[in-house]
Amino acid sequence: MESLEAELEQARNLEVAALADAIEAIGFECTRCGACCKAGETACGEDGDDAPEPHTATVFPDEIRDLQAAGDYDFRDVARPMPYGLHEGADGPEGETFEWALQTDDCGDCTFYAEDDAGVGACTVHADRPLICKTYPFSVALGGTSQPMGEAVDSVSLDPEAAGDEAVRLDAHECEGLGRDIDRDHAEELAGALKERAVRELEEAIGVRDNYAPANPEGEVVVHDSEGAKRPDGTAYEE
Ligand code: SF4
Repeated sequence: MESLEAELEQARNLEVAALADAIEAIGFECTRCGACCKAGETACGEDGDDAPEPHTATVFPDEIRDLQAAGDYDFRDVARPMPYGLHEGADGPEGETFEWALQTDDCGDCTFYAEDDAGVGACTVHADRPLICKTYPFSVALGGTSQPMGEAVDSVSLDPEAAGDEAVRLDAHECEGLGRDIDRDHAEELAGALKERAVRELEEAIGVRDNYAPANPEGEVVVHDSEGAKRPDGTAYEE
């Protein structure tokens, strides 16, 4: 397994032009279906046992601050603890987690997603949306590590000399906009944001690793991010 530092070096060395070539090869145009901003397929208000999992999209600490500043929002209006790693205690979720997720509304959709009367969706913080939103449905796979966005439906190797999982790849994830023509300017803009995201994800992971001190959050939730241990409202956690 590559170290995080070696992967960060790989990410910093990514060629934007090669990434843009790979994006063009797969093709993409946003159809504004809203699927990447919403919970699963069951519409809000429908009952049944198949209630969708709430939307989960990673947001970095400085992106949370940017979003707060964009709309004069409180921390919890913008972000919530990523639920992975938490368990249900007597009074609600508890445990330690290592990321923030964009806040969700009562339907499980991203809190910043809104539909007009005709049902057309839009992001209400488009200019300030996090890198994960700017780059969906793509991700960069480095050095055979596990990827944050689940299984890929298409992949292009950026490193044809390398074998199998060791190759640096552009992965594409489920999205109805895949396979559509994309112009070069848009492909390069996406490629630049993807490189920035790959670097930022690794810097964040290194920061989390280096700042981690086990907490003992009985009946509470603690989020360990690259700036230390925090409570769900973003304030510092002290035992
Ligand atoms: S911030 Fe905007 S683009 Fe990102 S998931 Fe929310 S509504 Fe969608």
